[in-house]
Amino acid sequence: VLALDLGGTKAAAGVVDGGGRVLSFLVEPTRAEEGPERGLARLFDLGRRAVHEAGHEVAAVGIAAGGPLDPERGILLAPLHLPGWRDVPVTAQAEAAFGLPAVLENDATAAAAGEFRYGAGRGRKSLVYLTLSTGVGGGVVVDGKLLRSRGNGGELGHVTVDWRGRECRGCGRLGCLEAYASGTSIAERAREAGLNAATAADVAAHAADGDPVAVAVWDETVEALACGLVSLVNVFEPDVVVLGGGVSRTGEQLLGPVRERVRLAAMGNAGDAEIVQSALGDHVGVVGAAAVVQDD
Ligand SMILES: [Zn+2]
Repeated sequence: VLALDLGGTKAAAGVVDGGGRVLSFLVEPTRAEEGPERGLARLFDLGRRAVHEAGHEVAAVGIAAGGPLDPERGILLAPLHLPGWRDVPVTAQAEAAFGLPAVLENDATAAAAGEFRYGAGRGRKSLVYLTLSTGVGGGVVVDGKLLRSRGNGGELGHVTVDWRGRECRGCGRLGCLEAYASGTSIAERAREAGLNAATAADVAAHAADGDPVAVAVWDETVEALACGLVSLVNVFEPDVVVLGGGVSRTGEQLLGPVRERVRLAAMGNAGDAEIVQSALGDHVGVVGAAAVVQDD
């Protein structure tokens, strides 16, 4: 499968074989502001180079992008991270460009499929995937079946953790998980508290050094993430929860206390869900896009 991962700042292309191995992997800036016509031409060109580099024929094209999108009709509706890209028939254009069948899926849903098939969820029956990145997204597999939405469902980042809480940049409501646990909001909360921190990684580093302001911001992040996860494991009772995205790279500093809180607060067996880091790392986008094609 030729897998294309269309992000707001970066686009990736890779060839992924039937065992989930990445045979080639190329990344370049999306330049979303240049609009869909030039943007897709560049994405498809990146795809052709990935196929050339892999030295392997491909049978289909899988495309992952941020929502809202319509996976059934293969249309980007109005992706939040691609301003001005409205009603773009990306699947039809990819089919025309490559002469192959193409499938479109929400990037976080695709990542869940990738982790389930080839990553941290391999051999399990059910999984919840959360990406903690610029925003927070996620996907769910129940009894081996990926939950696919018609465009706007499965928005795990917009689970409410405080209904009178912070305004969510993604959807405008109050108190979404994303308003606390995205990289953007972790850094934002730290700056509001007077900390000189540009990124969530800075906040984590200051907290590890014992800076009391950073520790307080980090504790709130842990509390919010655990609160959201308790709701999710209570609903889906997954075997495993996989955390991906930049914020998850803080590793045990985040996972350790979150695991403890979820285990104590979840209902009965739901608290037994293992909570682990993404196994696919930077490749999760392309492996996910490929997994969706292979599942289709
Ligand atoms: Zn929201």
